[in-house]
Amino acid sequence: MVQLHDLQFTPFISEEEINTGIEKVAAQINVEFGDKNPVFLGVLNGAFLFAAELIKRFKGDCEVNFVKLSSYEGTGTTGNVESLMGLTAPLKGRNVVVIEDIVDTGNTLESIDRILKKEEVNQYKIATLFYKPASYKKDLHIDYVGMEIPNDFIVGYGLDYNGLGRNLTQVYKLKKSKMTNLVLFGPPGAGKGTQAT
Ligand code: 5GP
Ligand code: MG
Ligand code: MG
Repeated sequence: MVQLHDLQFTPFISEEEINTGIEKVAAQINVEFGDKNPVFLGVLNGAFLFAAELIKRFKGDCEVNFVKLSSYEGTGTTGNVESLMGLTAPLKGRNVVVIEDIVDTGNTLESIDRILKKEEVNQYKIATLFYKPASYKKDLHIDYVGMEIPNDFIVGYGLDYNGLGRNLTQVYKLKKSKMTNLVLFGPPGAGKGTQAT
């Protein structure tokens, strides 16, 4: 068990399971983008470890870029996606692989879709290490998924709770507590996106 700020988290996904997910996605991307000179576009902060491990496994020529988007505060989504650092190189006509840590409601993906359409990329695909299908509300296709997970709030392997936990080498989930739910989310139905239920 780990304690981050005021909350406790229990072990959930092992390093081995994470690596299996990364290898699966890397193999798919090598087949589909090996000869396409892609630009990998990592979404900071959460995707920094996944991006590094995925890009290390890519066999062809590639370029690497990052944007910084934020929608979460504490353990819930705000619904608003803020761009904290935009594109620093033009992507017009390029083949882009977006690298996300986790897809929850899909709000962040929608922002990325808007940005890449405006850039007039040739094509883009989405790779995410974790995906919460029960929480996803959009129609955008998610091309490469390391692992599907239930609607728990997780930390570790790049993902944080209010800044802490990104350095954990495995993934932990929020420990269930009726008190925590009431304090964080109010009565049932009050929250949006992931809830710690
Ligand atoms: P979405 O925009 O799809 O609702 O959420 C995407 C972003 O919210 C992720 O990139 C991540 O930063 C954050 N997020 C979503 N679910 C979780 C979670 O379970 N744990 C943490 N630490 N962040 C999450
Ligand atoms: Mg992210
Ligand atoms: Mg975060």
